[in-house]
Amino acid sequence: MLAAYACDPAHSRGRRFAQAPALGRTEYQRDRDRIVHCSAFRRLVYKTQVFLNHEGDLFRTRLTHSLEVAQLGRSMARSLGLNEDLVEAIALAHDLGHTPFGHAGQDALNECMAPFGGFEHNLQSLRVVDQLEERYPQFDGLNLTFETREGVLKHCSRIHAEEIEAGEPDGVGHRFLRGTQPSLEAQLCNLADEIAYNAHDIDDGVRSGLITLDQLQQVALFDDFRRQSLAEFAHLQDQAAGRRLLYESIRRMLGAQVHDVIAATSRALRQAAPHSADEVRQMPALVQFGEEMGTKSLVLKHFLLHQLYRHPRVLQTTGQAREMLRALFNAYRAHPQEMQPRFVARFYALQGVSDGAEGAARVIADYIAGMTDRFATREHERLMKSDLLVESSSSVFGAP
Ligand code: MG
Repeated sequence: MLAAYACDPAHSRGRRFAQAPALGRTEYQRDRDRIVHCSAFRRLVYKTQVFLNHEGDLFRTRLTHSLEVAQLGRSMARSLGLNEDLVEAIALAHDLGHTPFGHAGQDALNECMAPFGGFEHNLQSLRVVDQLEERYPQFDGLNLTFETREGVLKHCSRIHAEEIEAGEPDGVGHRFLRGTQPSLEAQLCNLADEIAYNAHDIDDGVRSGLITLDQLQQVALFDDFRRQSLAEFAHLQDQAAGRRLLYESIRRMLGAQVHDVIAATSRALRQAAPHSADEVRQMPALVQFGEEMGTKSLVLKHFLLHQLYRHPRVLQTTGQAREMLRALFNAYRAHPQEMQPRFVARFYALQGVSDGAEGAARVIADYIAGMTDRFATREHERLMKSDLLVESSSSVFGAP
């Protein structure tokens, strides 16, 4: 049962290219199906979340992360009377624009692209679904509904929002210029994303040996549930119980966060009493943690940042990944013909165009951002063997 403030596919703001409705599917279910079948979605399986893929088969990848976000998002959406299909579509698409090698890759590409408008992974996710997927005869991209695209573009700098607004007045860039909120379904995905990675990074962190259960006792949000689990199942203390204490604590922590979001958001919705999805967009953010859970969640994030994401071993591998992407970027600038044919064609089509240099750099960024970790590694090896890696950038873009 959809609440009045949920997004209703029958009242979608529609697609950029009008299409007849699909038989037997709502517009958001159709979006979800398009996302699951696209190439960028399949690449998520070989893209790093926090740990490099080759470090172990059980660590999260962007794909399993996205599935966990969709699961958490859908179950909260159901309780809140929101549109589950839209939440699922946004969750499955939210990381499509991520580079190989996680945040290290994104930082490296952003540095390389600094003279050409920078690189933001949220904006790249939108580029993937709006332009880069080549599957349909009539248009580029997946031609998703406004509501899914609105959710995919989670953050956006003002300068990029202005560019989007110029091409699509009152479109998905608009809210970043006005300071308004997206749909509740989009807000819910943001929080589901946060809940998912906080939980699975504890699991992956302990699995990798970079953080320990003892260290986690500093984190109230986790430790409350560790104690609760031990009080109920004393045998979880034993070696023979393996990882069950970790899993039981994380399971309880996830459950408590989900219930907290449902309770706090229901309260906010009762107070604000929006009558439609459009009214929601004019209100402050309504999907939220309760105050206490919000504070505890921040403490956990802080812990993970310092103990895990900035762990010397993580920094070492991400440093190497960063170098690799920089080298690839410079190599393609000097030897654009080394990219795959459709990118080579796009690259040369921009020669002689007024903003050709920026456009050509964007083609390289699109190519690199689309790579999986292992494709990037293989490409780096291939170019190194062929002696095509260049130290500094060549004059490709400077030529008149
Ligand atoms: Mg995410």
